[in-house]
Amino acid sequence: MLRKLIDSPWTYFVLAALLVGLAVVSQIESVGEDAPPGTVADLEALAERDDLNVIFILIDTLRADRLGAYGYERATSPNMDALAARGIRFGEVESQSSWTKTSMASLMTARYPERTGIMRAEDALPDEAVLPSEIFSEEGYKTAGVWRNGWVANNFGFDQGFSLYFKPLADRSNKFVKRNSPSAHQLAGTDLDVTNSAIEFISNNKDDRFFLYVHYMDVHQYVYTDNSPTWGTSFSDIYDSSIHWVDQNVGLIAQSLFDQELLDKTIIVIAADHGEGFFEHGAEGHARSLYREVQNVPLIIVPPLRLDQGVVVEEKVANIDIWPTVLDLAGLPPLPGAEGRSLMPLVLDGAGEGPEASELRDRALFAQLDQHWGRRNKESDVLISMLDGPYRYIVRANDPERFEVYDHSADPLEKEDLADGGDVTVKPLQGKVDEFLGSGGPVWGDSPKVPVDEMMQAQLRALGYVFTMTDSDELRRRQEHAKELQDNQKWETD
Ligand SMILES: [Zn+2]
Repeated sequence: MLRKLIDSPWTYFVLAALLVGLAVVSQIESVGEDAPPGTVADLEALAERDDLNVIFILIDTLRADRLGAYGYERATSPNMDALAARGIRFGEVESQSSWTKTSMASLMTARYPERTGIMRAEDALPDEAVLPSEIFSEEGYKTAGVWRNGWVANNFGFDQGFSLYFKPLADRSNKFVKRNSPSAHQLAGTDLDVTNSAIEFISNNKDDRFFLYVHYMDVHQYVYTDNSPTWGTSFSDIYDSSIHWVDQNVGLIAQSLFDQELLDKTIIVIAADHGEGFFEHGAEGHARSLYREVQNVPLIIVPPLRLDQGVVVEEKVANIDIWPTVLDLAGLPPLPGAEGRSLMPLVLDGAGEGPEASELRDRALFAQLDQHWGRRNKESDVLISMLDGPYRYIVRANDPERFEVYDHSADPLEKEDLADGGDVTVKPLQGKVDEFLGSGGPVWGDSPKVPVDEMMQAQLRALGYVFTMTDSDELRRRQEHAKELQDNQKWETD
């Protein structure tokens, strides 16, 4: 009974509510002196240890280029920058979709969307899917997941392997939090609810090995606080303020690890499911295209030792590589059938000259998005993006004649479509896409379908797109569009 009470999310909520007046740190104290110094070679020995915890921090909707560690000029992310400076930062990371559920299903199973089959609103991961949480659980770790995005909820199969998996109740006493978006206010609470639950879990399990998955949502929601720096009034500016707020939450978790002397036995992973567009290609938001602004995400792995200069891996890698890498680093069994690869050869081989490193470097990386993911009455219309050499090649599965090509070496922001001028021979690129599609569909057959009822639809809709309403014509167009989407039973969540 006591065990049950301790494991109940309600207990966490009550305990979290007791953390009144929790001071938000602006930056982790002593972040450089909490763990023993080490070298890249020492990373290999981590696999022999049996006392390591893993914390996976997923920041929904976070594009890489808005973090200081990735060269951004605004000080949006002092805590994540400090963690990156002592750990491993991957400079070019491709998410596997620009919509949460497709992206997270791939990230967690290390398989491309083509192989998970999770592309539409009602698709769920089947029992046959193996998640890292199941491996941790089998290896004797305590496991918990805390999230605020309904697309990774229990009924979509993301709870497999977790003994605790919940959305924390909203603490409505946090009056200082602002929500400057037309729809975001409908998601109750803030990421501080997630942080408080996470810190309670950490302190309750500090004497055991644990795996904790923390899924933050306030960047998606454009939430920030009175204490956040403000850089302007556009959605892009407010987005930056919300990154600073979520970075403070990351700082609170790191501070709690420091306070409980766990930083020398915890691997921290910071990642994102997709980015956010600000009209680079005519739209604001995500879940509608596969361009760089929604595809390029951060990845920071902080080992339980202090790397003097930090390690930066500049090769292009993918979110499906995250778990193969972390499980490899921690000496745990791999995910079965993973298409992603351990990136440790790139980390350990600084020059990147070994055969494993060059094989990783030469891979093509894929992403997919069913543009009709939320429209029950419409057939699938899957976009495929392939990064290959200097190129991003985007093509429609239903219509290979419609494609775009961008050359990152000359055009990193993907502004100039080379397909227009016929400057690139696309046949080899399409050949690789055909090979990718031809090498087998969903590995578990058709995914189970979750009947999405009215109440859940309303909840998912409440998560909302964020629109920039610049003039009345635009506003009217958005309203008409929203009504059309509603009529089509499209869920306004991404
Ligand atoms: Zn998302």
